[in-house]
Amino acid sequence: MESILNIQDLNVHFRTTNGQIQAVRRLNLFIPKNKITGVVGESGSGKTQTFLSLFGLSQASQVSGKAEFNGVDLLSLSKSELNKIRGRDISFVFQDPMSALNPYMNVGAQILETILAHQSLSKPQAVHLAEELLLSVKMNDPRAVMKKYPHQLSGGQQQRIIVAMAIVNEPKLIIADEPTTALDVSIQAEILELIQDIHKSHSTSIVLITHDLGVVAQLCDYVTVMYAGQIVEQSITSQFFSNLKHPYSQALMASVPKFDMNQDDLFPIPGQPPVLDHEIKGCPFAPRCPHVMAVCTVKEPSMISVAPNIMAACHLYPQGAS
Ligand code: SF4
Repeated sequence: MESILNIQDLNVHFRTTNGQIQAVRRLNLFIPKNKITGVVGESGSGKTQTFLSLFGLSQASQVSGKAEFNGVDLLSLSKSELNKIRGRDISFVFQDPMSALNPYMNVGAQILETILAHQSLSKPQAVHLAEELLLSVKMNDPRAVMKKYPHQLSGGQQQRIIVAMAIVNEPKLIIADEPTTALDVSIQAEILELIQDIHKSHSTSIVLITHDLGVVAQLCDYVTVMYAGQIVEQSITSQFFSNLKHPYSQALMASVPKFDMNQDDLFPIPGQPPVLDHEIKGCPFAPRCPHVMAVCTVKEPSMISVAPNIMAACHLYPQGAS
């Protein structure tokens, strides 16, 4: 399988008033081309920082490793080279559309700016393209929409504008970070459908960062589970939900409220994720793991194949098991 993004040994550090935090630790991640990959985990697991840091969008004090995108190591690029790639080959869709839009510019001006920054078109051609785009994200009457300011649109409409701007230059990869979390439940399904349509019609590779396993089940081809700045499980989605291997993935699944559940049937994950201000000895999930063994507190488990199409980092699975 071909990759669109291949991350090797990524480390991301932050300097804080309490010392250094290592938000991402020795991370290896293969993002397949033309597929939707879900990246899941609790807040602070490093899922967002992994991607922000690669594209110069994080406040990290130090980022090291390798991240090959289209044959280029992103971490070797200058800020201006990264800016060129961002918006043209790679686009982001963030959780809060209002903070991603400029409140002082009308929507049309913002879309045109994105088009003209990366494409050699005349203004009328760019306007025509912007109108087509707005129609493709199901915004009726694009001419009227282009004259509006962000605050004159609903949250769902704002997110459609962000999605339109994300696809305007036909990127090879879209990174959608909790794209529906800030929206009303009734709008969430529409935005997810839109992302799925874009993937189908343009074969765009998509990374979907989410805490919502339901979204993963609905949209993703592959799943990556992160915990404490590392990957603990990677699986093909069709097998993930019926064959959860890592105790953290099992705990995440058990903590999801089901439709017919009452309060007593919920199983929140006990304890808290570790504070990443020091090197962790052994498995980072050990203090919360119901299957912890002596080896888990002294030896860090490696990512190994534990079943066809499933990798996990856990001592329950000896090296070479399948
Ligand atoms: Fe639990 Fe040990 Fe596996 Fe970590 S390595 S998840 S502590 S069994």
